[in-house]
Amino acid sequence: MINKMSSSLKNKNVVRSLTVATAIAGLTACGGSHESKDMEKEKRNVVPAFDVASLDTTIAPCENFFHFSSNGWIAENPIPESEPRWGRFNELIEANNEKIKGILEEFSDKENLKKGTDEQLIGDLYHSGMDSTTIENNGLKVVEPIFEKIAAVDSREAYVDLMAELDMGIASNPFGMYVGPDSKNSTVNALHLSQSGLSLPDKDYYLKDDSASVLIQQQYQQHIAKMFVLKGDDEATAQAKAETIYNVEKAMAGNMMSRVERRNPENTYNKMSFADADALMPNISLVQYTQLSGVKADSVIVGQPDYLRALDQLFAQFPLEDWKTYSSWKVFTSAAGYLPTAFVEENFDFYGRTLGGSKEMKPRWKRVLGTTNGLSEQLGHLFVDKYFSEDSKKAVESMVEDLRSAYRERIKQLNWMGDATKQKAMEKLDAFTYKIGYPNKWKDYSDLEIVRDSYLQNVYNLGAYKTKENYAKLGKPVDKDDWFMGAHIVNAYYNPQNNEVVFPAGILQPPFYNPDADDAINYGAIGGVIGHEFTHGFDDQGSKYGPDGNLEQWWTADDRARFDTLANRLIRQYDAYEPIEGVHVNGSLTIGENIADLGGLTLGYYAYLKSREGKDPVEPIDGFTDKQRVFLGWAQVWQMHATDSYTRKQVMTDPHSPAEFRVVGPMSNMPEFKEAWGCDNTGSAMVKSGEEEQIIIW
Ligand SMILES: [Zn+2]
Repeated sequence: MINKMSSSLKNKNVVRSLTVATAIAGLTACGGSHESKDMEKEKRNVVPAFDVASLDTTIAPCENFFHFSSNGWIAENPIPESEPRWGRFNELIEANNEKIKGILEEFSDKENLKKGTDEQLIGDLYHSGMDSTTIENNGLKVVEPIFEKIAAVDSREAYVDLMAELDMGIASNPFGMYVGPDSKNSTVNALHLSQSGLSLPDKDYYLKDDSASVLIQQQYQQHIAKMFVLKGDDEATAQAKAETIYNVEKAMAGNMMSRVERRNPENTYNKMSFADADALMPNISLVQYTQLSGVKADSVIVGQPDYLRALDQLFAQFPLEDWKTYSSWKVFTSAAGYLPTAFVEENFDFYGRTLGGSKEMKPRWKRVLGTTNGLSEQLGHLFVDKYFSEDSKKAVESMVEDLRSAYRERIKQLNWMGDATKQKAMEKLDAFTYKIGYPNKWKDYSDLEIVRDSYLQNVYNLGAYKTKENYAKLGKPVDKDDWFMGAHIVNAYYNPQNNEVVFPAGILQPPFYNPDADDAINYGAIGGVIGHEFTHGFDDQGSKYGPDGNLEQWWTADDRARFDTLANRLIRQYDAYEPIEGVHVNGSLTIGENIADLGGLTLGYYAYLKSREGKDPVEPIDGFTDKQRVFLGWAQVWQMHATDSYTRKQVMTDPHSPAEFRVVGPMSNMPEFKEAWGCDNTGSAMVKSGEEEQIIIW
């Protein structure tokens, strides 16, 4: 992917996207809520393809290309109070949000839409979230019966029943279940079990003992206690609950697989018979659990068998009451954002302000819009009907083929890879499929119950619906037409199990794709993004999948070893980046994305050169040659800045590097950059320690 997604999509673990999709506040790039396609086009004509006001000409491009290309924009575009970061990416998301708001308002105003239509589902879900009076009046009405059910659990057996019930869209459990492709037989859906159930963003939040981490651990416990006091507990009871919950989660965290370990699909592929999976946890009956969920499987792919064994021990070790307290917290904290204001504010204070780095809450409509993204297929459908141009689809399709042929030529001339592996790489490249804009067929959600007067109930209904939809795939062939993102989303992804690259309509707009821009800008921006997604098929993990999307060894051992050496050098390059004093990028966590950025920009550049073959030279624009403008196109996408809290969280949890290093990292490895900008070979920060040190992978 090009951005990390905040959604809790089942089966998201193997899909690689472009960046973190946080929602937005503040400005709009172009476009109001009810704009027609024609007006949209007219406005675009006045937006320069690359605005030279974004530049900081006091910094030499060869010194720091990120600051050169972005400081002007950053100075003019402070981070809005309700955002933890702000960039050109966000401006586009914001522009899309304004359009989506128009769609949502149009349908939420209508009371008697036909039940089960996209318009009714979306309109009524939005209405229920915007109707703050009813939300206040409903109080804890929807969640209270669940708390009562938890209180009534009187045996470990009954607790397993409870977990199965919570799994249907209410709250997460200490382990998660989903149905998705079998990575060694990618046309067949299999049952997966994985570690789950923490309430802080990563296991490291519980385990680190530096002063900043200890402070967050204390603030988290205070937050839990405050929430229970709001619910009516006395101070001492609430404190005791907070301590219990923290201890349970910390014990779980201590046995979990790290993000870096989980990146390797070989680590998480542990296929076993259902009986063997059940035997991992003698104290938690999987038979009982799956029966209640209506799931019947002969085999299970277990992500983290050691964790499940340890969890079973914890299940015996902590009293049942502690597990009940833990589950009541999972229910409470998952519901908090849909409850009356007092709960929403306390929830924001910790997760938004303390952890996330935002100063104030987004307006209600943006928060509710985030919830309607749960109906991403329906929302995407309405968005595409109103705003997407088939011309963009055609243009981008042809760019995808340009990028594929640039990749083919790059593979041919690689000096570190032998002919046998090259042949296989070419087969994989030829087998890549792509999806652009929107799905071929739209899903039917007509039997989903969405009402106008209960926001939280709607969220539960939607969660249960999607969980059932996912479980129903078990035993069926993988639907290759499935999309993992709504068509309106500003992002893109590579799915190794389908060997496909996917570009939703939402990203096919400036600054990524601008039909009025010169080709150089577009090849640097959307071309770089297409190249990025292609390269995920050949990054350190994606390269373990063959042309049919199965985990298989298609490399010779020598080629693999040379590839690993290059990747390890790139890991060390990024490990050295320090966005905040004392806080380093994690080169091992971000290696897949960094390989994709390096490969993506390189491919975008060569695809551009290929598109110019046999044509007259292009005149410079604003004093920049076309080759230079390819780099400006990529850099423009990453004009972005973030609060320190956001950056701290990002380097711990996000496989994507902070924006500055998505520009400086790949460019400093590219001889093409050095040539285009005339950077002095020695002593130039943008030419990594002399030419011989540059890392060229794809
Ligand atoms: Zn990516």
